[in-house]
Amino acid sequence: MHEYDLMQKVIAAILAELTKPGVGPQGEVLEVALKVGALAVHSEAATRQAYEILTKGTILENSRLDLTILPVTLACSQCGHQGPLPEGEVDPHEVTPLAECPQCGAVSPVQGERGVAAIELRWE
Ligand SMILES: [Zn+2]
Repeated sequence: MHEYDLMQKVIAAILAELTKPGVGPQGEVLEVALKVGALAVHSEAATRQAYEILTKGTILENSRLDLTILPVTLACSQCGHQGPLPEGEVDPHEVTPLAECPQCGAVSPVQGERGVAAIELRWE
């Protein structure tokens, strides 16, 4: 469960930030802007679900999650094509993920983030 492990760390970090002395709510609703690499999670839906489950009963329960999954990109050495790959195209378990170039079909290594790229807290 990639999403679960990842979100557990993310939420622990946010809760630590929010419970620092002198840091209180600065608005009605907290929006959590989270950017994660596509190689860190399987799907956006599973990531959102993990967030919902893990924030239950915490001060983050009613927060809004603004989730951005940074796409995996392929850079083909055969034809020079460069571009993002659709969700689910690459198996995040692989150490060196490969994918077929959508242009010429050559198998090329893909690049992508494996962890959390950014966490931003916004009060509204
Ligand atoms: Zn190609």
